[in-house]
Amino acid sequence: MIPFRKNLIDGEWVGDAGSRNINPSNLDDVVGEYASGRAEQARQAIAAAKAAFPAWSRSGLLARHAVLRKASDEITARKDEIGRALAREEGKTLVEGIGETVRAAQIFDFFAGETLRLSGELVPSVRPGVGVEITREAVGVVGIITPWNFPIAIPAWKIAPALAYGNTIVFKPAELVPESAWTIVDILHRAGLPKGVLNLVMGKGSVVGQAMLDSPDLNAITFTGSVGTGKRVAAASVEHMRKFQLEMGGKNPLVVLDDADLGVAVDCAINGAYFSTGQRCTASSRLVVTDGIHDRFVDAMKDRLGKLVVGDALDAKTQIGPVVDQSQLKQDEDYIAIGRQEGADLAFGGERLDRDTRGFYLQPALFTQATNAMRISREEIFGPVANVIRVKDYDEALAVANDTPFGLTSGICTASLKHATHFKRNSEAGMVMVNLPTAGVDFHVPFGGRKGSSYGPREQGRYAAEFYTTVKTAYTFAG
Ligand code: ADP
Repeated sequence: MIPFRKNLIDGEWVGDAGSRNINPSNLDDVVGEYASGRAEQARQAIAAAKAAFPAWSRSGLLARHAVLRKASDEITARKDEIGRALAREEGKTLVEGIGETVRAAQIFDFFAGETLRLSGELVPSVRPGVGVEITREAVGVVGIITPWNFPIAIPAWKIAPALAYGNTIVFKPAELVPESAWTIVDILHRAGLPKGVLNLVMGKGSVVGQAMLDSPDLNAITFTGSVGTGKRVAAASVEHMRKFQLEMGGKNPLVVLDDADLGVAVDCAINGAYFSTGQRCTASSRLVVTDGIHDRFVDAMKDRLGKLVVGDALDAKTQIGPVVDQSQLKQDEDYIAIGRQEGADLAFGGERLDRDTRGFYLQPALFTQATNAMRISREEIFGPVANVIRVKDYDEALAVANDTPFGLTSGICTASLKHATHFKRNSEAGMVMVNLPTAGVDFHVPFGGRKGSSYGPREQGRYAAEFYTTVKTAYTFAG
């Protein structure tokens, strides 16, 4: 029996017409059927969240703490089952799916604690006898629009702080991964959220998402997805004078210097470029390698790539799952063709692979002799494709690393304290890694980028308060 999952609006599960969720490892496997919301339902959800806001924002801290803690506990208890469903609908491996689920539980746990730690400031006024209080209050109704590549972690790192600081929510997940979104909402609903506090409206971006952008009643929107949609979110938010936060693409450089430990550099590059099928905004898609280590690095990469097991996400032996869907696969293959036309050398992979089941299997691809001016080095591919860009020394490596419209993450593999320190200070990225992959971040510290990658305050950790609260300055003259 295929489950039918409905939307949650004002505390009721509603919806009829649905769309099917297909397993990218096995196109004959239907994960479930999901309500596809209409614009009217998005508006009802926003109205419900608006009505629920006054009571929720003034609710006792312990009520919020309890819901977030309960959600964390249930996600932890069900991590294998939820992680498996995530791997089934998105195509990342079981280890990655379960790891991401554990991450979601940790995020709820962290923000449960944050509900009890919100503080303000009490400062003397410049006027005698006057006191000044600086406090943070909830923003209001927050619209949450998420992508498909982290189906549970990204919703968690937006929903948890929104609730912790007393906001109400309209949540629209990506169409490709509704099961993880539905599961997290179901857990929070049963954990005791009052009706209207958290609303789920699954459906098309052009319908549900657009209705959210067009609403004058959303007080803030947090978005993770493509640059194109991010710009629409920005334009609509300016029109309605609402707060917004965008996390978009990346073209993240991993610099490998002559003095790097080769094993560490190859581990970082393989993990950063190809794990999660390269479908991470933090993926290392540009491998910027100095002359002295270049050939050894490329040989070692080809050797490791040849040993990677590409297959069904639910098979425990699989290291690289399928691409998420047909259109992403086409994009990956188009860029591989573009790279060849541009004169880069396809040193490994890039071919479709046949497996026991029909799925979107693609051999991880490595380009060498790429330049930083090529489209494959400038545009985000979002697949298991990386380019090696050869440079003569550290100075050129840093210049190439920074020469990009994006600025999410960057990394350097080196034994030199001097170069590592210089890179940390001069890299134009929001997150910098030394002897670590560019992807893979902690949940309790800020996440976000610069330039075309991000807009607005950081996500995650205590910095999340910047977006999910608004500051009030109150003056009192007590006589
Ligand atoms: P991706 O390439 O990662 O799918 P998108 O930006 O298309 O990136 O999608 C990210 C999220 O934005 C998804 O939930 C999608 O449904 C939503 N979305 C797409 N178009 C719009 C739109 N016009 N308005 C609001 N949300 C949209």
